[in-house]
Amino acid sequence: MVQTYRQSSLSFYLTIFDVLSPRKFQMFKRIKLPCRSQHYHWRTLMLRTYIRSLKFLSRSVRYAFGKFPRECPLCNYHGKFLGYGYPYVCDVYCPQCGSLERHRLLYIADQQKDFFTGKTILHFAPEPGVRKMVTQRAPKSYVTADLFAEGVDRKENIEALTIEDNSFDVVICLHVLEHVDDRAAISELYRVTKPNGLLIAMFPIIEGWQETYENVEKTGPENQLLHFGQHDHVRFFGNDARQRLASPGFMVDEFTAVEPFVSRYGLMRGEKIFLCRKPAEPAQLP
Ligand SMILES: [Zn+2]
Repeated sequence: MVQTYRQSSLSFYLTIFDVLSPRKFQMFKRIKLPCRSQHYHWRTLMLRTYIRSLKFLSRSVRYAFGKFPRECPLCNYHGKFLGYGYPYVCDVYCPQCGSLERHRLLYIADQQKDFFTGKTILHFAPEPGVRKMVTQRAPKSYVTADLFAEGVDRKENIEALTIEDNSFDVVICLHVLEHVDDRAAISELYRVTKPNGLLIAMFPIIEGWQETYENVEKTGPENQLLHFGQHDHVRFFGNDARQRLASPGFMVDEFTAVEPFVSRYGLMRGEKIFLCRKPAEPAQLP
């Protein structure tokens, strides 16, 4: 009995995947179902959209362990990347070192611009791959900071740092500003960066939006996931993020993920690193 159930269950799923194969799916689409009523017509359309959605689901499952071979410059892995994130994105997660698109983009940018050698570095929410990369560049000093994570050098609230003014040549802040009061954090980051020093910032950004979307009424994990894309985010930056970064006095430049690096290293097309330079003779903060 159990075996019969298992066999029938298996044949059911095989039938589903058989129907979802590209050739069979085209045949299925050509089937003309009788349209006896408007209600019946909509049910038929819904059935087709559900099946089409299942087709893309099956494709995502097939690509869960990667489709194209890539390279991870952080750990020299060559092979297929895994999927990651919500919504789930295929081909982005290095199975060897856990690097994501943004970490590999920072590596590419550093290869061209040499951010870290001989510099004093402050790194917020330090990612293991980036931490390893920075220490390999022989910085003058390297300090990690986080408010909650274990294993960092300093417990710091990025909105109210206990660090002296003009302390670091380079400050790294990847995917932190969308979690906190960004105006307070950027002002603090400016304060602790040395004159002519550099803030390296990354965050999710909707380039098609002129203004950053914030809404203090949208609190709680479900609301924040719906409105800001993650259960602990408090905004989606629009392209005014550049003005927000520049507000304390930073001069904002950008490094963009372009080909041939995107395909080779599995980067997000058009993703930005914001390179915020503090002037050599900064204006006094109010
Ligand atoms: Zn890797």
